Amino acid sequence: MHLELENKVIVITGGAKGIGAAISRACGQEGAIPVIVDRDEEAGRKIEQELTGTSRRCTWIGADLTQQDGARHAVLAVLQKYDRIDGLVNNAGVNDRVGLEHGSPAEYLASLERNLLHYYAMAHFCLPLLKKSRGPIVNISSKTAVTGQGGTSGYASAKGAILALTREWAAELLGYGIRVNAIVPAEVMTPLYRQWLSSFPNPDEKLKHIVAKIPLGARMTEPEEIAGAAVFLLSAKAAHITGQHWYVDGGYVHLDRALT
Ligand code: NAP
Repeated sequence: MHLELENKVIVITGGAKGIGAAISRACGQEGAIPVIVDRDEEAGRKIEQELTGTSRRCTWIGADLTQQDGARHAVLAVLQKYDRIDGLVNNAGVNDRVGLEHGSPAEYLASLERNLLHYYAMAHFCLPLLKKSRGPIVNISSKTAVTGQGGTSGYASAKGAILALTREWAAELLGYGIRVNAIVPAEVMTPLYRQWLSSFPNPDEKLKHIVAKIPLGARMTEPEEIAGAAVFLLSAKAAHITGQHWYVDGGYVHLDRALT
């Protein structure tokens, strides 16, 4: 299948590691120009080098999206370098476990800053350029938007709002031909996930327990499997898909628990 992504400038937040890095690589493999907006300089430079070797064009832009003006500066930097944006992947986020009992209103707000506010800011500042290119938006959400995890009010509400915004923006941007879709992962092995696992007394046991509950193949979703869905949604082949929530999770959210 020819995805027609050659030379498209695709902005990927959190694109230096984990799911975002897999999306950056997949864009590069399709001949697109991934522009990685990420605060991790070492990982950002590493993937920039790796992709510059293969797809010849890839740029890392150092930005902390929790900082005021972080998104605006990042979009300005893309504009200066490429003068266009053909797609946006909102992906940066962290399950920071700010709960109702163990948390505070101030920590809750900070969690929304880490996980939600920059999705809006990036879409807002990219919009004039996306209008010109009719470029799509892909938002990365999480199963916690719909399943409840406990102890993570900020993250869960951010991820739920991201699903709502996906439909809201799909409606608002219809007239510009801008499609907006979300991908909902459940269990994907990434640096963030590894870090979370290591907070348990026996990470291997914990992982075994989690994996046994994943219906399709009793295995984790690969970051590349999320990336496959993302590049398809970014592509011309998805030209009539908008406002959708795609669960790329091996059946974790929707299949009968009796199966596991
Ligand atoms: P990851 O391994 O931590 O990679 C995310 C990258 O984004 C890191 O380089 C991180 O830098 C960067 N980043 C995070 N917040 C940022 C910010 N405010 N400004 C700039 N850069 C930022 O995470 P991941 O597991 O791939 O997760 C990616 C997305 O998928 C997140 O939205 C997450 O909620 C979602 N998700 C993941 C899973 C899973 O199982 N992994 C499941 C459901 C949803 P630092 O390392 O410096 O933070």
